[in-house]
Amino acid sequence: MPELPEVEVFKRYFDATSLHQRIVGADVRSAYVLKGISARELVRQLKGRQFESSKRHGKHLFVRVSENLWLRLHFGMTGSLCYFKEEGKAPQHTRVVFVFEKGHRLVFDDQRKFGQIGLIEDVDDYLKKRALGPDTLAIDLKQFEDILKKHRGPVKSILMNQRLIAGIGNIYADEILFRTCVHPATQVSALTNRAVATLFHATRHILRKAIDAKADLQRIPRSWLLADRGKGGKCPRCGRELKSATIGGRTAWFCAHCQGRAVKS
Ligand SMILES: [Zn+2]
Repeated sequence: MPELPEVEVFKRYFDATSLHQRIVGADVRSAYVLKGISARELVRQLKGRQFESSKRHGKHLFVRVSENLWLRLHFGMTGSLCYFKEEGKAPQHTRVVFVFEKGHRLVFDDQRKFGQIGLIEDVDDYLKKRALGPDTLAIDLKQFEDILKKHRGPVKSILMNQRLIAGIGNIYADEILFRTCVHPATQVSALTNRAVATLFHATRHILRKAIDAKADLQRIPRSWLLADRGKGGKCPRCGRELKSATIGGRTAWFCAHCQGRAVKS
């Protein structure tokens, strides 16, 4: 599932391929991903215009079309982007094709169809309406501390709560907690100030490193949990078998040996 690093990689890909070209049409092959807009309206609004710039917030990507018009993309479980210059190259799960002049195309590919495409007038209004928290990479230590101190619950649930901090999902929450040796079920109230600061720096480190690695498993350091995360996986630090538990409605993977529950000093 695309989280902050994957969406940032999509943003950079979008910026490198799809800005400043005249849009001549949009081919909607699965209207299921369109939210709050019809295929006909999408085409009508985009035709003759250009994508001017883009902006990421958490797991959302917003593309500016004009002053009061933004394309909104959410990648759901399996969404991705693919730009190509020749016909007949569309990926298998093409849902929407944005067609530029000279026949160049940008495809929104999404096998499981949980992705979303919409048009909005204002990004800040949209974020407010959806009650999304600040972007994880845009907050400082003080804001991070406030968020953790003002809420109760397992630290993993807090990290994944998009209304508190936007961008971290199941995979990267596990990775951040693994790096800091914190058990995912640890109550935030039990974290010392020092542990919170460590968590903050680890969060930035993990997300930035993942972006640098283009969120590509082959490039992610082997010392991370990511490649081993799953049944039968071994802790890259101590070699013991990883454990799983349901926390905040999602499956957490962790090393029971390395990630101690007791962090109270
Ligand atoms: Zn371990």
